[in-house]
Amino acid sequence: MGSAASAPKNPSSTATHRATPLARIWAALDTLTDPEIPVITLREMGILRDVVLQSDGSWTVVITPTYSGCPAMGQIEDDVHATLASLGVNARVQTQLAPAWTTDWMSQAARDKLRAYGIAPPARCGATSDTAAGSTVVQFAARANKPEVVPCPQCDSHDTTETSHFGSTACKALYKCLSCMEPFDYFKPY
Ligand SMILES: [Zn+2]
Repeated sequence: MGSAASAPKNPSSTATHRATPLARIWAALDTLTDPEIPVITLREMGILRDVVLQSDGSWTVVITPTYSGCPAMGQIEDDVHATLASLGVNARVQTQLAPAWTTDWMSQAARDKLRAYGIAPPARCGATSDTAAGSTVVQFAARANKPEVVPCPQCDSHDTTETSHFGSTACKALYKCLSCMEPFDYFKPY
């Protein structure tokens, strides 16, 4: 069809100009996704922890790696730097290791997107381990190595079986649905 009547162009971000610097930073960081699961944002993953204004006027972005030695963390740091640089914001990235990241920090939105993406979301561990702050440790249930049932993300059947404990990445196990016969990844609780 014709090319003259093109799609509406995105008007330059007039709305964000009125927002506070903190809101602008969060809005920009909210566009960043997990390099391994591109449908989920870093914030939804629970990787992006905090944005702090320092007394010298610079900003610190606090991130917590999902798994120690996760190769994606370098890219995540680069993405945060590049995004804030494009805003003209002077920021540094601080990696916070304690308390350690857990799949329990993944938001419900992240779990729903994961399932829609074809990956079974992690079962909730139900235990907090905030030992760094010395706060009360609430333990609802012992952390199980394997959940009883991992529902198939395709057909929701509970008739599934683990075929490999280490799937495409160390964070995932490979499962197979015995109902629709489709293999799928299971994001292991951690
Ligand atoms: Zn299935």
